Amino acid sequence: ISKLAVLTSGGDAPGMNPCIRAVVRTALYHGLQVTGVRQGYQGLIDNNMYDMNNRSVSNILNLGGTILKTARCLAFRTDEGMELAYKNLKAQGIDALVVIGGDGTFTGALRFSRKFPDIAVIGVPGTIDNDLYGSTYTLGFDTATNTVIEAIDKIRDTADAHDRLFFIEVMGRDSGAIALRAGISCGAEAILLPEKETAIEELIVSLKAGHYNKKSSSIVIVAEGDKHGGVYDIAKAVEKEVKNYDIKVTILGHLQRGGSPSSFDRILGSRLGYAAVNALIAGESQKMVGLQANHIVLTDLEEALNQHEFKLEDDLMAMMEILSI
Ligand code: ATP
Repeated sequence: ISKLAVLTSGGDAPGMNPCIRAVVRTALYHGLQVTGVRQGYQGLIDNNMYDMNNRSVSNILNLGGTILKTARCLAFRTDEGMELAYKNLKAQGIDALVVIGGDGTFTGALRFSRKFPDIAVIGVPGTIDNDLYGSTYTLGFDTATNTVIEAIDKIRDTADAHDRLFFIEVMGRDSGAIALRAGISCGAEAILLPEKETAIEELIVSLKAGHYNKKSSSIVIVAEGDKHGGVYDIAKAVEKEVKNYDIKVTILGHLQRGGSPSSFDRILGSRLGYAAVNALIAGESQKMVGLQANHIVLTDLEEALNQHEFKLEDDLMAMMEILSI
């Protein structure tokens, strides 16, 4: 390969910038040219790209978001969109692509690279949801979880002062990873996850028991993707039965995506970016770089996408009830 392009796509995640920096500097170190693509796949279609040098990525390690911007691009799902993207890449002499994003991004990357195999593609798992097969951790998950923990600790102070019961919704449409970690880290009385059915009656019994056991406050964490119809409905159902607490609802929302990446995400982003370029130089394509048992591992994009059986840690699932008593 002689010239690679890098882009970020789908939801932004803290750690994307350290990863872009590692991609750019590793590639330049090896004598490759690097192009930055703005706004994910949209930038390929619009020819919104620029040459990057070592200074293009100065002072970005500490920045949340992504300096390349990201987008959800409908046109890239069409054959015409993909052909335009290919034409623009070829016109610039680009023969390799690093895409940082989630499963949608990888689906697009795999389709593209099957259609145009002369452009090598490596994927980097970047999503706060930590829901990709092939990497124990994805970029942004650690920072997002730390942000959630900081917010819940603050809510705990006011909950405690007023004997309040808080229902806190955290991000995770299909994954309870943030909810589970945050719940265990903050001592939540209950954690509602898409991965586990919890009957509301069961929740009510445990909240009543908490009050009986002289808990001055209670926090219930609800992942966005929980199947009970939303945090407000759950709070309403509980309010009918649990009278001893003043019940409040907080949705943490987009603050969970922002913020300076944690040390973990800076290191992970740097490792994965470095590994992605080395994989391309080694002639790899249609693979994802990931971290498993503290080693960098390559997984076929096809395998990463087809493995939907992503599991939360058994011990964390088992301890979430035991430790909250
Ligand atoms: P997150 O997990 O944060 O949502 P993601 O990468 O899964 O990130 P998506 O919006 O699902 O985010 O996908 C990102 C982009 O990938 C889409 O906007 C689209 O441009 C492209 N994409 C997704 N699915 C396909 C597909 N089937 N074919 C071509 N491109 C796709």
